[in-house]
Amino acid sequence: MSSKILNNFLNENIAELKERGLYNEIDPVIGANGPEINIDGKSLVNLSSNNYLGLATDDRLKAVAKDAVDSHGVGAGAVRTINGTLDLHLNLEKKLAEFKGTEAAISFQSGFNCNMAAISAVMDKNDAILSDELNHASIIDGCRLSKAKIIRVNHSDMEDLRQKAKEATESGNYNKVMIITDGVFSMDGDIAKLPEIVEIAEEFDLITYVDDAHGSGVLGKGAGTVKHFGLQDKVDFQMGTLSKAIGVIGGYVAGKANLIDWLKVRSRPFLFSTAVSPADAVASTRAIELLMESTELNEKLWENANYLKAGLKELGFDIGNSETPITPCVIGDENDTQKFSRRLYEEGVYAKSIVFPTVPRGTGRVRNMPTAAHTKEMLDNALKVYEKVGKEMGII
Ligand SMILES: *Cc1c(COP(=O)(O)O)cnc(C)c1O
Repeated sequence: MSSKILNNFLNENIAELKERGLYNEIDPVIGANGPEINIDGKSLVNLSSNNYLGLATDDRLKAVAKDAVDSHGVGAGAVRTINGTLDLHLNLEKKLAEFKGTEAAISFQSGFNCNMAAISAVMDKNDAILSDELNHASIIDGCRLSKAKIIRVNHSDMEDLRQKAKEATESGNYNKVMIITDGVFSMDGDIAKLPEIVEIAEEFDLITYVDDAHGSGVLGKGAGTVKHFGLQDKVDFQMGTLSKAIGVIGGYVAGKANLIDWLKVRSRPFLFSTAVSPADAVASTRAIELLMESTELNEKLWENANYLKAGLKELGFDIGNSETPITPCVIGDENDTQKFSRRLYEEGVYAKSIVFPTVPRGTGRVRNMPTAAHTKEMLDNALKVYEKVGKEMGII
């Protein structure tokens, strides 16, 4: 017999979410997640993926992935520390370190998993973590898992950071203090103030941890936010994902050899969960090689992003203050935002609405993610739809 208590809990809570309009219906994509997608038989210009460089469907990556299935099979067979460390995983880690300009790197099964793994391997209940209030959910959960004292810092507020860093270090309550931040903030597309963060870290001897999920492949000609500012030697943890610009799946930390050694003996998802498949490992490795060989995709991404931004701005939309290809289109009211996104969908553009509580109340937006794989024609079509729906709803 199944639990009545559980049943009631689930039914009541799901009903409540539906009533409040907070129940997220997931639209399955039929086929590949490319610049155009098929949902429910309808073809749409896709402005919602994190596939910044179009690598998720790149023929060169597909070819090496297929070969790896033939040579290595479909699974790693065991956790890394037993005998599931394949030559392909080591190749990937070597390439990651080269790409990031660090002594070494360690790979994980996902970016989320990586934050679960790496923070708690180094920080414990006698430590404190200064965390930007807009940090990603996986950072928040990773910090919680460590049991360190979490000190929220106002978003990109360097005075607040300095003050809290001073208090934490001078209190004598903590053995170690870490500052952790997204490199690029995913809702507004703004870049962390890393030069100032590093300066404050040096002043108070803080450990620095940058989650560059949205910066890698995008900033620093592809190498990420840390490289963008030339700070490779000054950031302890350069964390990233292989599932956004790299187009595959996985996460990693790049840093000093002793840090990576420690993560290999202490981070629990590395010790107790099997690594990515052979196909994933080679596809990611090849993707990084492509980024190191040529900046062509990165340039195309920025060209498309600038084109879309200029077009939306010219139409009269509020596109916020993004410094990266992430292009919010701020509508404001939550219901209007959802209606706007629905109308875009009906007209052939897939751009998801993002509303409270993910962003502050009254700042609902649809978020556009242009990629290197979009053609000018696709972007022009999207802009035409934006114009039509924007005028129809009295937004522009
Ligand atoms: C997407 C994201 C992650 C999670 O990465 P996955 O590889 O998808 O698990 C972690 N941190 C940030 C900032 C992200 O945007």
